[in-house]
Amino acid sequence: MKKFDPATSLQYLEQKKESRGVNPSISDSATFTFEEAQTMTDTFHGETEGYFLYSRHWNPSNKYLSDALAAMEGTPAAWVTGSGMAAITCALLHEVKSGDHIVASTTLYGGTFAFLKNYIPKFNVEVTFVNTSNLEEVKKALRPNTKVIYTETEANPLLQIANIPELKKIAQGVDAKLIVDNTFTPMIVSPYKLGADVVVYSMTKFINGKNDCVAGAICGNADYINSLIDVNNGTAMLLGPVLDSFRSSSILKNLYTLHIRMKQHSKNALYLAQQFEKIGLKVKYPGLSSHPEHEILKSMMNDGYGFGGILAIDLVNAEDANAVMEEMQCRGVGYLAVSLGYFKTLFSNSGKSTSSEIPEDIQKEMGMSEGLLRFSVGLDNDIENTFTIIYDILKEKGLVR
Ligand code: PLP
Repeated sequence: MKKFDPATSLQYLEQKKESRGVNPSISDSATFTFEEAQTMTDTFHGETEGYFLYSRHWNPSNKYLSDALAAMEGTPAAWVTGSGMAAITCALLHEVKSGDHIVASTTLYGGTFAFLKNYIPKFNVEVTFVNTSNLEEVKKALRPNTKVIYTETEANPLLQIANIPELKKIAQGVDAKLIVDNTFTPMIVSPYKLGADVVVYSMTKFINGKNDCVAGAICGNADYINSLIDVNNGTAMLLGPVLDSFRSSSILKNLYTLHIRMKQHSKNALYLAQQFEKIGLKVKYPGLSSHPEHEILKSMMNDGYGFGGILAIDLVNAEDANAVMEEMQCRGVGYLAVSLGYFKTLFSNSGKSTSSEIPEDIQKEMGMSEGLLRFSVGLDNDIENTFTIIYDILKEKGLVR
């Protein structure tokens, strides 16, 4: 049997278009008509092939994008949301009730960490934070009422890699679901194929790649997706974080270039990581053999997409990190901005920005230095030149020899 390849799976997906346009028409309706009242009733109770009820539930544009994401992810179904946080919070809230317990990675995107630490306990759901790269720690944290193990494939911003097949075994042992945020590694890793029950995305990042909108996705099996949008109990249907059709349609077009972009992001990031390591900086990049989970990522990766576009260097203190970032922006390396997956390089000091929701003592415990500078490496055509500019800045600031 041929190995699963996300880009090929997407390429061969046939989507019937109602016009002769190569792109599906954008649906411009909140509600939809039926010839027969009974079909409307049936649609209320689930999906009726070819029928749409109301745009918070489904609409043609969101269905096209969801089906394309499912093809890419190797999941039977998917549902798109108005943000990555909407995907994450709906997926988590859908699995738990008062009295349940979640085991989550300590290293997570700051918003997800804040949701788990400060928000979900309001519903009497307890969360234990562990290093999900340490399987023994995960096992020890389990309780009879554990319903979810939650992790990022590549954790933001320390770039630890989760061993998805092993986490799946642990989750199965207590009948918990494994939910994986794959935002950093679309196409590179296919978590569902490795055993994850649910895969969530911030499509704001690599998937869309244009930094022109905020969006998210939840991928999983068909019963699960249908239950999420069930009119009586579905978390997504009832909380209503629907993605706008116009955005869906533009993300769908961008999805078809994702494989080429991921290859270039990865190629450039590997080059920078290798050069940074050569000049003596402390570098975190899972493509380097010095990365503790390099082999684990290799064992999970799909062929040909590289090790991803995100890397971090540790400049020890925030003042040096800030000075380097400001200078890199002035000399055209990219933008001092949060977020990632853009065609231009973006850089930020994680502890002071996207991970600032994590208290400083926990940042220290996690090993997050206050000088951690995270790069989302862009699609630069001449990455050697980009490195030369950064190297000059580091030398001028006395941070390397
Ligand atoms: N997951 C990860 C790994 C992220 O980095 C982010 C945002 O930075 C999110 C989720 C949240 O996504 P959004 O901003 O689209 O809500």
